[in-house]
Amino acid sequence: MTVVQRKAILKAEGFFPHKKNAKGTSIIYSRKHPSAKFVRVVVDSGIDSKTGKIVGKVGVKLCYVNRQKSWREITTEIFTTNTGLVKTIKAQEAAEKFVKNCKHCKAKKFTAKSGNVVCANACWTAWAGKKKAATTKKKKPQKKITASTVKKAARNPQRNPQRKPQKKSSQKKLQKIVAEILPGDLVTVELLKLRKVTTDYTGSVLGIVTKVDQFGKVSVDWTANTSNIHEWEMPFTNHYADDCREIMRFKVLSRPVEWAKAV
Ligand SMILES: [Zn+2]
Repeated sequence: MTVVQRKAILKAEGFFPHKKNAKGTSIIYSRKHPSAKFVRVVVDSGIDSKTGKIVGKVGVKLCYVNRQKSWREITTEIFTTNTGLVKTIKAQEAAEKFVKNCKHCKAKKFTAKSGNVVCANACWTAWAGKKKAATTKKKKPQKKITASTVKKAARNPQRNPQRKPQKKSSQKKLQKIVAEILPGDLVTVELLKLRKVTTDYTGSVLGIVTKVDQFGKVSVDWTANTSNIHEWEMPFTNHYADDCREIMRFKVLSRPVEWAKAV
């Protein structure tokens, strides 16, 4: 039933099975993105091509077909069940507009094996003289607010002399926990009780971050919610106070993002 159902959903959504799967034994499906050029919605059906049995959850991601016809993964694969499949496809499609474009050739950017976010067409390789400069450019390390950052700031008081005393007085009273949440992130939520995750809503709640303002207010377009939590119970900030007994916070599915103590 589930195999039949899964195939039926994919067919109804306009997907066609691929003949090959270079990375595994399951049947891969894909189709065009409804609006973005060269972008394909790719579904790993989790159905084994030999046995025809379900061997895993169904995964959805977006790929960009570059000039060499290579498929570059531009969003992280999100796994779901038959019930969440259509909504996950929609969420991935919506995430496309948050994927950055190459300034030079307008192709989508993707995260290369090196960890660098680069043009899917690797168009810099065509700029003979500039090749070295472009490839040696390292991806900026993600800004993480950690204890070492605090120490560094303290060691160098001239850098920000006005902030120092303020920091000292507030640090112990209210420890803030923050996470880097960005537009385009596919998110779910998790419930924390006394600093421990007690419920993870992956698979039942799915949304796409549309905006994060300067105060850390996060706007989300909730595309799926089969849980018993109401929309008004959903988190809406990229931070919370560490002394909260119980808190509902975001969990980013499309990138590795961790919550950490802020200053
Ligand atoms: Zn380019």
